[in-house]
Amino acid sequence: MCYQVVERFSVCGCLYFQHAVDPCEAYGQRGHVVQEKVVLVGYTCDKHSARRAGNVPRSNNWSDSSYSSKDF
Ligand SMILES: [Zn+2]
Ligand SMILES: [Zn+2]
Repeated sequence: MCYQVVERFSVCGCLYFQHAVDPCEAYGQRGHVVQEKVVLVGYTCDKHSARRAGNVPRSNNWSDSSYSSKDF
């Protein structure tokens, strides 16, 4: 059976990356199906993360600065 790896964003389900089909001997025959292997990546896509984040640049930034200011 042929496989095609398809990477999707786990949160919004949008397509992240579609790999080339890994063909078997029966590839291209009538009624032969390509099995999709869905790999989830742990984020939302740019479109959907931008809407949620709004004016907050990145969660890394504010946690970093607040920690360092506490330490000093
Ligand atoms: Zn096949
Ligand atoms: Zn999305």
